[in-house]
Amino acid sequence: MRVFAPLEHLDGECRAALDPAAAKKLTSLGLKLTVAPGLGRKSSHSDAAYTAAGAEIGDARAEADIIVRVRPPRSEDLRGLKRGVLHLSLLDPFHQGALMAQAAADGVHLVSLELIPRTTLAQKMDVLSSQANLAGYVAVLQAAGRMNRIMPMMMTPAGTLSPAKVFVIGVGVAGLQAIATARRLGARVEAFDTRPVVEEQVKSLGAKFVKIDLGETGQTEQGYAKELTPAQLELQRQGMAKVCAQSDIVITTAKLFGRPAPTLVTADMVAGMKAGSVIVDLAAETGGNVEGTVPDQEITTSNGVILIGHGCLEGRVAQHATQMFAANIANFIEHFWNSSSSTFEWRMEDEILKGCLLTYEGAIVHPRFRPNP
Ligand code: NAD
Repeated sequence: MRVFAPLEHLDGECRAALDPAAAKKLTSLGLKLTVAPGLGRKSSHSDAAYTAAGAEIGDARAEADIIVRVRPPRSEDLRGLKRGVLHLSLLDPFHQGALMAQAAADGVHLVSLELIPRTTLAQKMDVLSSQANLAGYVAVLQAAGRMNRIMPMMMTPAGTLSPAKVFVIGVGVAGLQAIATARRLGARVEAFDTRPVVEEQVKSLGAKFVKIDLGETGQTEQGYAKELTPAQLELQRQGMAKVCAQSDIVITTAKLFGRPAPTLVTADMVAGMKAGSVIVDLAAETGGNVEGTVPDQEITTSNGVILIGHGCLEGRVAQHATQMFAANIANFIEHFWNSSSSTFEWRMEDEILKGCLLTYEGAIVHPRFRPNP
């Protein structure tokens, strides 16, 4: 079987779906591998490094059995592929009805990496976690770089500089890494999440958990936050307004899987913040947690607060983001690889495959997206 990694079509995408280490893993399993020329250029990997890992350099889209990429394919990327090809990538599945229908019609088996279950067994294939972890780290560095104060406390003969106050809203994978990074830089950190289970994790990182009584909140079976009622959201905003006003940096990461992000920091709350403070809105691409952030832009408000809405922060550390993404992809393929027959085993009862396979043998098979009969 042959794997092909084409170039990413988005100009700003610096990650690649495979790095030489993952290439080596796949070729060691017995897979043939072709990567597009220049695949790793933006993540600092030369064609020679892929060749040394056993890959060929070229275009194998027409003969590949497995195609791997970072971003969702465009409609034209699905044309001319072999029927029965497995296509692995991020897919933004809630907004890709037409692409799914086309893939089903063309016999392309689409896997959405976002839908890989958040289970212990699937952790090593979980691109949402591997990428969010880096995004949380980069968010803190971006804020620290834009703030006109320093992060740690400094006692000098010229006086004492107080540590920066950082408030992290939403403590999933990105939020936890943001807390850890801000703590390492010496900041004083507070955090809030609607899932009460998070409190212990926040404390274990040396941060303070902000207590706001919202009544019943909880989480879904998959560990995602449940959507709050409008009244609960209002209570939450009131509880957070004072913390925001006292913070030098606010990092928001609160997302709702498959739905627009909730507005947690209103324009009034931003107006109550100090001049020079910085907000990084990691949810900017899915509607934003902060009123006024604009996706992919940096804005300074009339009261001097800097709002950063850059998307895909993990792409700014493309070498490491590629390393982790590629390892996730290689682990997925390895999980289903039958080394005696040198084939990808379509184990349709496997929980991981059931969770993320969208189209198979001419039909949309995922229960969440299957058309009603
Ligand atoms: P996410 O990106 O979907 O959301 C980020 C955080 O925002 C979550 O912690 C969520 O609770 C929080 N949030 C949502 N609405 C909020 C609000 N109104 N106010 C404050 N916070 C709000 O989450 P994620 O990082 O993808 O993680 C989702 C879950 O999956 C977490 O429980 C995580 O621990 C779990 N997870 C499990 C595994 C595993 O077991 N293998 C791996 C990764 C993640």
